[in-house]
Amino acid sequence: MNTKVRPEVAKALRDNHIDNTVLSGPLYVATNKVAGQYGLTQRDVIFGNGFCPDEIKGGLKAPFVDNYSWREFDLCRVDGILKGSDMVSAMSHHAPDDGGFIVLNAPHVSVNSNGEFGKIIRYGQDVETGCCGAAMGYLEKYTGGDRGEPELEDVLSAPDSFDIAADYDTYVLKKVLYPHMDEITKSRIPQLALTQKLYELIAHDFDARSSGILSEGGDVLYVSGIEYDVQTVDGGVENLFAPGKVIFYSDTKEPVDVTDVFLDVLDENTGRCIQEV
Ligand SMILES: [Zn+2]
Repeated sequence: MNTKVRPEVAKALRDNHIDNTVLSGPLYVATNKVAGQYGLTQRDVIFGNGFCPDEIKGGLKAPFVDNYSWREFDLCRVDGILKGSDMVSAMSHHAPDDGGFIVLNAPHVSVNSNGEFGKIIRYGQDVETGCCGAAMGYLEKYTGGDRGEPELEDVLSAPDSFDIAADYDTYVLKKVLYPHMDEITKSRIPQLALTQKLYELIAHDFDARSSGILSEGGDVLYVSGIEYDVQTVDGGVENLFAPGKVIFYSDTKEPVDVTDVFLDVLDENTGRCIQEV
């Protein structure tokens, strides 16, 4: 089934070479197929949710949550940034015997009906907001001249302790992006450049943590990419996934880059999930 979008949306994706996106169904099928080739059968797998908590992002994870009988482990802070080593280590302790995890991990950015990145009309609203809200909020702040390096003290001095956790997630996002903000703001479409940079940083971070994960056991199929949340002609939002690196981490062997295998399986479904109307 195709997602119906205005020509401006299709053009924005095309002009920026975003031509390999898939919907949740093919993503689920391809992920399971590749996982199976590396010994991870659905019965022995827990779904590692590496998506922003934003309600707009539910579509891609839905078939995984449904079909894995709700065996879902939430790994994520805002915008695809994975929680720290404690959380990743916990994941390794929870891996089923002879099984492991499938981790889907992607920062996200929206495309509105005019083909602009970083804004969208959400469910039940009639005015656009930022998407990913935390990342676009930081970009707006930085572009507006507030260019100071994020300080941990600003988060820890929050008077209400219950605010710290939420503020800390946004702090981590800003801290990770801060060294790259000048480069991002000078690019043609900063909202897109920010998301692409974040994707690179997150995938690198997961790779750096992988030895820690595997010291406790359990295999991991790590599927990374970028999620594009596009406004559909009926005013809704569809979640498209553009695959990036796909790595199989094992507790007995070196990590294997299975990106090509994954793309081969996806091939018949890519580039055909939107329809201009
Ligand atoms: Zn978000």
